[in-house]
This record gives sequence, structure tokens and C-alpha cells, in this order.
Amino acid sequence: MSHKSDDCLKNFGDTGRPNKQFYQMIEEYRETLEKVKPHRICVCVRKRPLNKKELAKKEIDVVTIPGNGALLLHEPKQKVDLTKYLENQTFHFDYSFDEDATNDLVYRFTAKPLVKTIFEGGMATCFAYGQTGSGKTHTMGGDFSGKSQNSSKGIYALAAQDVFTLLRQKRYADMDLCPYVTFFEIYNGKVFDLLNKKAKLRVLEDEKQQVNVVGLYEVPVSSVDDVIKMIEKGSACRTSGQTFANASSSRSHAVLQVILRRRNFLHGKFSLVDLAGNERGTDVSNNDRHTIVETAEINRSLLALKECIRSLGQNSEHIPFRMSKLTQVLRDSFIGENSRTCMIAMISPGMNSCEYTLNTLRYANRVKELNGVSKGASVENGTKLELSEEGSSSEEVSESGCAY
Ligand code: ADP
Ligand code: MG
Repeated sequence: MSHKSDDCLKNFGDTGRPNKQFYQMIEEYRETLEKVKPHRICVCVRKRPLNKKELAKKEIDVVTIPGNGALLLHEPKQKVDLTKYLENQTFHFDYSFDEDATNDLVYRFTAKPLVKTIFEGGMATCFAYGQTGSGKTHTMGGDFSGKSQNSSKGIYALAAQDVFTLLRQKRYADMDLCPYVTFFEIYNGKVFDLLNKKAKLRVLEDEKQQVNVVGLYEVPVSSVDDVIKMIEKGSACRTSGQTFANASSSRSHAVLQVILRRRNFLHGKFSLVDLAGNERGTDVSNNDRHTIVETAEINRSLLALKECIRSLGQNSEHIPFRMSKLTQVLRDSFIGENSRTCMIAMISPGMNSCEYTLNTLRYANRVKELNGVSKGASVENGTKLELSEEGSSSEEVSESGCAY
């Protein structure tokens, strides 16, 4: 008999008691409970205001955010006899931000609580998800005033600010931690370094399944201003050579990482991801071969991302990170014992965006269900919307091939 079970029996007292077996069963159950980490995944929604164009067209705002994380989508419908009616759908997220929320407020409830994780030797990821024009880059990279981006007001810079604040705190100052920044883009399954003139990089996996982006610039930074310079350099690189500022950037994932190293060894990593727009699949106006391949790749990566976050939330042994380059590159963030993830789903409030908005909310809801506390989406009249937790990948791929 081992030393440990000796102690165990001693604690139990009378070994001959009839309830000994129940005692042991309860103890065993408790042990499994301790392994469940609370709140590893946070899913939020942010609604942007109607923009000038939408206001000029007198578009109707179809999204209401009543509070407590709830969100209502008033979907306009028409019967065969042309009677108009609304299908009001209610969703629940960890937080739902309305059009008056500032980047600062959104940051405080989403990425900010994750900063500490990387100081404690963990991995943190924050994703901005949504259709093109819904506010992903505004939220992550900062507001645009005219043509120039105010990078200091985006989640990238706000997170960097907090990293430097913590680095100066007494409890972390003695840890010998050095901060670095990487900034890269994943387009059509290929990785491009935004801090090195969009150099195309190879992704290699060694025998220990350690994923390495070969030659990725990892720039040492010593202040928030340094990080802001890198954000601006990378953002300029991202959109350069394009006819439309948003054209190819909306079809690529941009990943900014703040890395902490301790005597050259990786200590923690915060990946902030501005995802590719999720709407390309239904855009049939431009369905040439190139667009179809591009769309398939985006859909695959967004589907893979959802599957990986689900696995993370279920503490699953098998994480399907090889499904896409995006999840492959972020592999260490999905497998770490101490990893936390936040997803901000961005939505456009206009009636014309209703279909995309619904798709975004459904995707976010599926990710959210992992917490085990979600009530799921329900229609106003109390009928449950079909949201199967076991939903297979194929079930979630719509006819247009979209990963919702
Ligand atoms: P995405 O990156 O999702 O394609 P953007 O971030 O580029 O979308 O946003 C599209 C437009 O909407 C931009 O002009 C941006 O400034 C504006 N916008 C987005 N979110 C907000 C917001 N919360 N408040 C004000 N303007 C916003
Ligand atoms: Mg963008």
C-alpha cells in the first residue's frame, strides 16, 4: 500500500465504516472537478453604429442590446401572402456591446483580463470575427480618422500598454522577462511577415509537433510607442499595393503577437487576431476560380478555428489544429495547460446585413456553448433554435460552402 493511500485511510478514520466506498467515490469525483478550469473561453459581441452610407440609405437598425450580455436580432420576414412580420431572436453572450461602447470599454472586458495569463507562463488569444466592414480592424488596430489609423486606441496597443505596466510591477519586474512583437498575415494558407516587407515564410513542424514559422521577425520592444510603430509598419504593409484599402486585407488573417521571453525561452504569448471576413462564400458576384479557392481556404480556417476552440473548452486530447494554417500556427495557444481565449464577434446593425449578422451570431454561439453555461440561442416565442452541440463539421458548412 502506498504512502498516499495510508494517509487517505487515516484521514477517513474508521476504515471499517460501511460508507467508505461512497467516501472514496466522492473523493474521486472531486479530483476530476479540480481539473476543470473556469472560464477559459470568453465570447462577446460588438455592434458598430450605422455608418454614413447606411444612414444616407435610411437603413434600419435591426439589433437591440438590452443588457446582461443579451442581444436581440429583429429579422424582417415576409409571408407568401406578403404580410410582413418580425422574427425576433435572442442570443446570450458573456458580454454584448452596443454602438456606444468605446474600444477601451470593449478591451476592458475582453482582452485585458487575459494579459496576466502570459505573465503566468500561459498563452492568450483574442480573435476579432465578423463580415467585412463590421469593425474588426477598428477594434483591433484602432479607429480611422480620415486615412490615418489611430493605432493607440486599438486592442493591439491597449494590450501592449498593459503588458508594459505589468512588466514594471514589482512581482514581475524581477522575473527577467523581455517583450517582443511579431506581426504576420495568413493569406490563402500562406504566411507573410508584415514586419519584413511581406516576406513569404515557411511553416514547419518538428518531430515534437512544435510548429515553427521559419524566419519570422521577432522585434524586441521596450515601450508602447515601439509596439505602436510596429503596428503601423505592419498595417501599412498589409494594405499596400491595393486598389481598395480593404480589398485583400479583408481576405487574410492578421496576427499580432506580444511575446515574453525569459532568458531566451518562451514564457508567454498573446496573439491578437484580426480574422478574414466571414462573408466571402455567399458573394457570388465574383466567383472566378481564384475567388473560389480563396473562399474555400477562409471557410476551412474559420471552421478549424471553431473546432479548435471547442476542443480547448472541452479539455479535449485531440485538437484538430492541422485543419488550417491559421490553427497550425496558433497551435501552442490551443494546447497549453494555461491558455485562455476570447472571441469578439463584430456585427453590422443594418437590415441589409441581417443574413451575415445572423451567421456571425450563430458561429459565436457555437463557440460560446463550450462554456457549458450557455442557454443557447432561442427564438422569442420560446422555441429553441436548432443548435446542436454535437453538430458535425459538414452540418455547419452551408450550401455556399460557408463555415457557419
Ligand atoms: P472590418 O475590419 O471588419 O472590415 P473596419 O474595422 O474596417 O471593418 O470597419 C469598417 C468601417 O466602420 C470603418 O470605417 C470603421 O472606422 C467603421 N467602424 C467600425 N466599427 C466602428 C465603431 N464601433 N464605431 C465607429 N465606427 C466604426
Ligand atoms: Mg479589416
